Amino acid sequence: MKVLHHPKRRERAAKLFDERYDSRQGRKIVDSLASGLNTTRKELVQRVDQDVVVSFGMDSMSIPLSTDGNEDRAKAEIEIWQVAEAVLHAESCGYLDDQEWGCLWLGELRLGRNIQNDSVRKRLAAYRAGNSDDRRRRLLQSLGKVYPNTSRCPLVLFQLMPLAVQIVVSIAFDQTDDADSKRKRQAFWLPGIMDCQACHGDVLDNGEKCDVCGNPVWNYRWLMSSD
Ligand SMILES: [Zn+2]
Repeated sequence: MKVLHHPKRRERAAKLFDERYDSRQGRKIVDSLASGLNTTRKELVQRVDQDVVVSFGMDSMSIPLSTDGNEDRAKAEIEIWQVAEAVLHAESCGYLDDQEWGCLWLGELRLGRNIQNDSVRKRLAAYRAGNSDDRRRRLLQSLGKVYPNTSRCPLVLFQLMPLAVQIVVSIAFDQTDDADSKRKRQAFWLPGIMDCQACHGDVLDNGEKCDVCGNPVWNYRWLMSSD
């Protein structure tokens, strides 16, 4: 497979979507998905990497240096998990009709040619095979290999993350009621998220972020408020 740079990947994904669903929404959906999933991935890396160190004031000697290699590994793992989580949600809500097609389509958009890589496909299959608890455990375990301090992150972060990805997908497909119901689920796990004076816990557009609480991936001040 030819290596496609990101804009090309988006173009191709939009075209594939429009062809399959006889739609003209491909570009809008793909851009929104890409933007939302960039935010959730970036913020999650930040929470398991630098934020955990800052929040717990740990001895920096016990912390692996955050090398580019580490960050790349963590990003790739998060992407694989996001693809599984996003496609399962899209299929269960009826936004996509075929999980297999969806995984290749979104996998190619998010991981480029790496989606053809055996190890990536196996990891994606493993995420898809489990239930939501299995997926969460697997993600925690994989991130823990790159960032050992992942285990010190408030567990609620990993309750909120799958829902954050599901919200990104619902927003991209313009299904705000589905997104709102997932936000209510997040508020069940962390009621404090509705108290932010800046965003009031509202569902934001994909790519947006609340500077006060971190919505859609809450910062440690908020994550710790349930403890
Ligand atoms: Zn906020």
